[in-house]
Amino acid sequence: MTQQQLGGLSFRRSVDQMVDRALGVMQVTPDVAEAIKACASVLQVSFPVNIRGRVELFTGWRAVHSTHRLPSKGGIRYAPNVDQPEVEALAALMTYKCSIVSVPFGGSKGGLRIDPSKYTRDEMQTVTRRFARELASKGFLSPAMNVPAPDVGTGQREMAWIADTYKQLHPEDVNYVACVTGKPVDHGGIQGRTEATGRGVQFGLREFFRHPEEVRRTGMDGGLDGKRVVIQGLGNVGYHAAKFLSEEDGVRIVAIVERDGVIVDPNGLDVEAVYQYLVAHGKVEGFPGAAFDADGAKGLLLECDILIPAAVEGVIHEGNAAAVQAKLVVEAANGPVTSEGDRVLRDRGVEILPDAYANAGGVVVSYFEWIRNLTHMRFGRLERRFDEARGEELVSALEAIGGTPLQHYLRSKLAKGADELDLVRSGLDDAMRIALHEIIELRNSDEQIEDYRTAAYVIALRKLSKAYIYVGEI
Ligand code: GLU
Repeated sequence: MTQQQLGGLSFRRSVDQMVDRALGVMQVTPDVAEAIKACASVLQVSFPVNIRGRVELFTGWRAVHSTHRLPSKGGIRYAPNVDQPEVEALAALMTYKCSIVSVPFGGSKGGLRIDPSKYTRDEMQTVTRRFARELASKGFLSPAMNVPAPDVGTGQREMAWIADTYKQLHPEDVNYVACVTGKPVDHGGIQGRTEATGRGVQFGLREFFRHPEEVRRTGMDGGLDGKRVVIQGLGNVGYHAAKFLSEEDGVRIVAIVERDGVIVDPNGLDVEAVYQYLVAHGKVEGFPGAAFDADGAKGLLLECDILIPAAVEGVIHEGNAAAVQAKLVVEAANGPVTSEGDRVLRDRGVEILPDAYANAGGVVVSYFEWIRNLTHMRFGRLERRFDEARGEELVSALEAIGGTPLQHYLRSKLAKGADELDLVRSGLDDAMRIALHEIIELRNSDEQIEDYRTAAYVIALRKLSKAYIYVGEI
């Protein structure tokens, strides 16, 4: 069977194989391993919606991989080819992801088989609200048990519709707004959630480059400044990661791969300009000053320092991994490298920051949003002005002692009380730093562990097996 025919099945196998590699270096018995890998429950729904005078049947899934912590958490994907095994694989990844960055949630994922580009906004709203009703009425949507978020093909808009549908069904639930994350900021969302996954990729890479021995392992040296980066996918994750890395860390985005092909500029592309061009024209072809090739797959094989696949699963596989020229692959998408592709890259010494770590920024900030919703208050609301007044007193004291006024930038930095965005960024940075530190430490202390992915999974699996053992489930 071809990769295409296998669909999500090959993805699920791929995730299982990677987990098996980690289980192989742990003292976990096969029965416990099976219990950890199994999906706890899956809901499949089919529902009719009247669209332009015709009845269309939509099919969707919500898989719950783990419930050792509640709620179970993970996005909802809208795509024409989504299937149950794919959703199950993505739900399992959510379990490991949450565990790696110490977010106290189980793992879940949803998918609806739909091509959003074929429907109007109103039609999408009708379909989304109907899907949300199906999920809520069957116990797969609630602040306590199962909390979706955006994923491929969904965003703030869908999350607002889902939250409102749940509210109509459960007006007595004082925490109704926490039933979904990734909402618009004025509808219970949190500052910094939209860009959180891209920001997390940036924070993860920054942390990586704080470890010169790890950087040397890849064959690179120095800092992020001037590194040549190829990015695949200028969606929410890819756009923000590429924008922040190029504008704030001095990396050169030498190529951007999109649906219609790849654009290349060895001097570095202006990410914001490319994004605006893509929004206006629906393609990257014709972007001024860049070379274009309609064969986008070639973009993944270009010479560069860092390759960031930020689109869909399975793009680096047995058939092309040998030709990847990057020194470091950062999995901003879920499952962009198949387990065979992973083996080929490992054999060649190409390092990978795995998805379950690299793209965890989204769920970290989702966790903050959920907490914000449960407290019914934005972060920083109580202490911000107090901290500001303290800071001003400190500035005055320093000026009195020193006898001269402080420089303006120092004065405003010291006197600033943290607002919600400051706190979200600080919390995200902390999560990404601690997690990578643990991954690096484990890899360097256990000679059986030869790659970051295995180290990350071992960390996740250890926490998970403890959680199961404590409650006597295994
Ligand atoms: N869909 C995102 C992911 O794959 C975010 C999940 C969430 O925030 O719950 O990590």
